[in-house]
Amino acid sequence: MSDSKKKDDAEQDLMSKIVSLCKRRGFIFQSSEIYGGLRSCYDYGPLGVELKRNVKEQWWRSVVHGREDVVGIDASIIMSPKVWEASGHVSGFSDPLVDCRKCKSRWREDKLAEPRCPKCGGELTEARQFNLMFSTKLGPLEDDSATVYLRPETAQAMFVNFLNVQQAYRMKIPFGIAQVGKSFRNEIVVEHFTFRSCEFEQMEMEFFVKPGTDDEWLEYWKEARFSWYKDLGATPEKLRLRQHEPDERAHYAKDCYDVEYEYPWGWDELEGVANRTDYDLAKHEKASGKKLSYFDPQAQERFLPYVIEPAAGADRAALMFLVDAYEEEPPSEGRKDGRTVLRLDPRLAPIKAAVLPLKKNDENLVAKAREIVQEFFLHSVNAFYDEKDSIGRRYARQDEAGTPWCLTVDFQSLDDDTVTIRDRDTMAQERISVDEAVKTVESKLRAKA
Ligand code: ATP
Repeated sequence: MSDSKKKDDAEQDLMSKIVSLCKRRGFIFQSSEIYGGLRSCYDYGPLGVELKRNVKEQWWRSVVHGREDVVGIDASIIMSPKVWEASGHVSGFSDPLVDCRKCKSRWREDKLAEPRCPKCGGELTEARQFNLMFSTKLGPLEDDSATVYLRPETAQAMFVNFLNVQQAYRMKIPFGIAQVGKSFRNEIVVEHFTFRSCEFEQMEMEFFVKPGTDDEWLEYWKEARFSWYKDLGATPEKLRLRQHEPDERAHYAKDCYDVEYEYPWGWDELEGVANRTDYDLAKHEKASGKKLSYFDPQAQERFLPYVIEPAAGADRAALMFLVDAYEEEPPSEGRKDGRTVLRLDPRLAPIKAAVLPLKKNDENLVAKAREIVQEFFLHSVNAFYDEKDSIGRRYARQDEAGTPWCLTVDFQSLDDDTVTIRDRDTMAQERISVDEAVKTVESKLRAKA
């Protein structure tokens, strides 16, 4: 077997293990699975929804709540079709589509390494442009005037609300408007599990700056966004910033960097950080006939701001953190059969603490464990009560769920009001007092923040 074939198989193997763990533990399911699934659509299960919420929460904390100069919005997914005409999406948001003449499969020409069908080596048709926007009808009339689009990016809502937000909140340039929400693209090729899907969540921020200061702000945001992934525990050697080649840039971008991760299939995009100049505001100003310029009261001058945009994906980030955290440990003293563990940063972990009574048929152990879980709930720390199966199997389940700490209520707990706390990564256990349980987990969580 050639080295590259071996590598391909290993990648496939790792991805299929991750997909299977996602299903087994309730992170991600195929959408409409009982009907055979729907191409590229996924449902987040009980653990997945927590993971993705934590990713979005960390993003919001870092980009909005942790700063004075960025505020958030939550805009409608369906916008006036005039928005997408002005922004250039109706005429230009397309990918080059090619068909294989032999096996009839479809490909994105710009993603092919060679000008032949990757599946069967067959000859490909000439490329034609395929618009990625989903359209639908608003209202009961089936005529063209009612055609609307599901947004393919969240960014346009920040541009058309630029003055609303600036005036309502009396923001001074430089400042940003952020949004987290669903976007939709009719992707030609859907690939790598949730990496490229047709419905996904974006975490985008438009940072409005004075022209002339745009290069330094691009520099600032590319570094800030790169650091965010590292700070949340992604392996630094698997992260890089890559500047776009001039022919790669979107039509609106003066300069652009991708934050990339080395996925099992190779280096690929996590997030784009682009200098969109005044392209969008100028287009909307022209098309709407409404002034969108900013008046700087100090300098007594009016200008159209430039925009730096960090555009990330919540699903893509969640997938990357899952892949990065996945580890199969060989057998050790602690675990004779080895174990699979998700070494997620505790801030991202779906469950922060699992509370386990040593035996489920001892009502004193069960009552104490339930009291402790309630205490976590009262402090808004996501905890989980589990009494099924042996303690070893319960630890193994929590390791696979990425739960950083397991608290076990044993017979000693009934005598001296202490529990053991087990660390997911080291498997080391220590005894702490029940009164201190929530505080201990909270302070461990803070230590990581
Ligand atoms: P690609 O080159 O991978 O198609 P893009 O450059 O078109 O992506 P952007 O338009 O910059 O992507 O979107 C910003 C971010 O939104 C991406 O970095 C990614 O995290 C996320 N994203 C975009 N398209 C998808 C998709 N189809 N599925 C999941 N996430 C996506």
